[in-house]
Amino acid sequence: METSILNIGELFLHLLQRLKKEIDFSQINNLILVMDVMGQHGKMDLQKAEKQKVFDIFLNSGLHGGCWPNIVYSVISFRLSDNCQRVIAVRNHNKRHSEHNAVDFLRELLILESLPPQTIKWYVNFSPCRNCSDKIDGFITEARTLYGIRLQIDMQFPCLYKIRRPSCERELCSHLQSVSTLDHRRNIEGLRQIQQNGVMLRTIDEGGWSDIREILSVAFSYRGTPRNTEDVRLNKDFHHLMSGNHSTDGFVTLEQLLQEFHQITEKFKSGLLI
Ligand SMILES: [Zn+2]
Repeated sequence: METSILNIGELFLHLLQRLKKEIDFSQINNLILVMDVMGQHGKMDLQKAEKQKVFDIFLNSGLHGGCWPNIVYSVISFRLSDNCQRVIAVRNHNKRHSEHNAVDFLRELLILESLPPQTIKWYVNFSPCRNCSDKIDGFITEARTLYGIRLQIDMQFPCLYKIRRPSCERELCSHLQSVSTLDHRRNIEGLRQIQQNGVMLRTIDEGGWSDIREILSVAFSYRGTPRNTEDVRLNKDFHHLMSGNHSTDGFVTLEQLLQEFHQITEKFKSGLLI
């Protein structure tokens, strides 16, 4: 898959040529760059192994205490002006995040008058960072103000990108150190901003997994798995964070004080502080 990566400019030129005639995504399956373009009827037109790979990335993203993945996919289901339903998967490439690439792609469709008002389903294996939230926010506003197209986005994710989870703070998890308070605040602000602009944000639940499983045609039994347990915890964390009552937004809780004390003690013990 890596060997067939093109840059986004090349893809757009190719797309523009095709879109001017008739949008036939099935003709560009081999342009798996930043993007795997999926076939008709909302089903991905990829090799089985590739579909499984995308699914596994979603499944293993954000399990408690896990590392940040270096591959992020946006799997997006949308309707074209001719009423055809399409699914694409856009991945990160170099330093551009998958959401940024996806917005560029959708904007091209908008310019070509191929994206009617609708709710776009958007699965991404990490919640958008602040910069990507800004891109999404700008795109929705642009669609509405410049093109008169009202777009809603139903975005679901199995992990929060660089956000300090309340449950981790309660448990004084050591991996929290990898997320700065500044990143946390910026990312939460970005999510709140797009939520106010009509993006429905939620953590993936059983229905979401069943949808992704269907799109990717893979088998997966969800109930009772570690993913299922993680999702329940994640969902509570996310609601807590978005309600605006979370301590890192401005107040310091006893847990945080204890955690910071714990971190300082550890640094002291390891000789980092004298
Ligand atoms: Zn991002």
